[in-house]
Amino acid sequence: MNIAFIGLGNMGAPMAANLAAAGHNVTGFDTAGVSVDGVAIANTAVAAVVGAEVVITMLPNGKILRSVAQEVIPQMESGALLLDCSTVDVQSARHVAEQATAAGLRAVDAPVSGGITGAAAGTLTFMAGGAPDAFAIAKPLFDIMGQKSVHCGDAGAGQAAKICNNMILGVTMAATCEAFALADKLGLERQKMFDVVSTSSGMSWSMNSYCPAPGVGPQSPSDNDYTPGFAAELMLKDLRLSQDAAAEVDADTPMGALAKSLYAQFVEEEDGMGRDFSALLPRFEKRGRG
Ligand code: NAD
Repeated sequence: MNIAFIGLGNMGAPMAANLAAAGHNVTGFDTAGVSVDGVAIANTAVAAVVGAEVVITMLPNGKILRSVAQEVIPQMESGALLLDCSTVDVQSARHVAEQATAAGLRAVDAPVSGGITGAAAGTLTFMAGGAPDAFAIAKPLFDIMGQKSVHCGDAGAGQAAKICNNMILGVTMAATCEAFALADKLGLERQKMFDVVSTSSGMSWSMNSYCPAPGVGPQSPSDNDYTPGFAAELMLKDLRLSQDAAAEVDADTPMGALAKSLYAQFVEEEDGMGRDFSALLPRFEKRGRG
């Protein structure tokens, strides 16, 4: 396939490289002027999309996605697929999909989980929103860049799934970290805490697969001095997206709101920036109730 790939950052570059390595003809563009193995680099986004059957975007936010989409949609071949893999607000995803459809194109929003290691290894999970025929075109590409893809529904459904998942993740990680800090103060060994909770009703991915306590549970960023992993500021971005979406549709999400405030404080006022999102544990460890 002729594929254009716009946004060759930490995630986009390895994803584009994997598509090229699988034999696709990939032309990329990034404002930062990067080079990626096997990918021809165009000088502009418009130059990258000419003749492409699929245009993939992997960009920082909804505002940038909207501006790139506005630029490239008029230049795309009729029937081509605009496949956005960025994490953006549901409104931007729906807006871009409507614009693409009105121009005779297909559109899928397909944010990912799995992070930079998943992007490099081709083991991402894609959660996709869009028409079934558009999803069918994207599916073989998901299979190259990832190990799982779920068709969640119409335009925006992928972004909705992503922010709901990450809202749960932010809340459970915060709860797991504060529970470890409480256990410390109650004199309970962390290993014992893990042994009990990971096999009891408090279990979660945060505890069982990504334990925030160093030396306990499977290998995780806590064992590497909380080097991300999944950076706290990316968690904050996703928690903000979920709260913005909740405000838009009048959904009551008090735990998500609390997790957002906590991560905002950690990233913007404390030492959370650039640390893994599980570094809330050393934060709680040092604090009292006051
Ligand atoms: P990044 O900042 O490394 O990459 C974004 C790239 O987009 C940069 O290289 C930037 O130069 C480029 N860019 C910005 N404006 C552009 C424009 N107008 N035209 C072309 N290129 C432009 O970010 P990332 O970590 O690769 O994340 C990309 C997306 O994936 C984000 O939406 C993020 O939330 C999401 N995501 C990231 C992770 C992760 O672990 N990094 C995990 C899941 C999802």
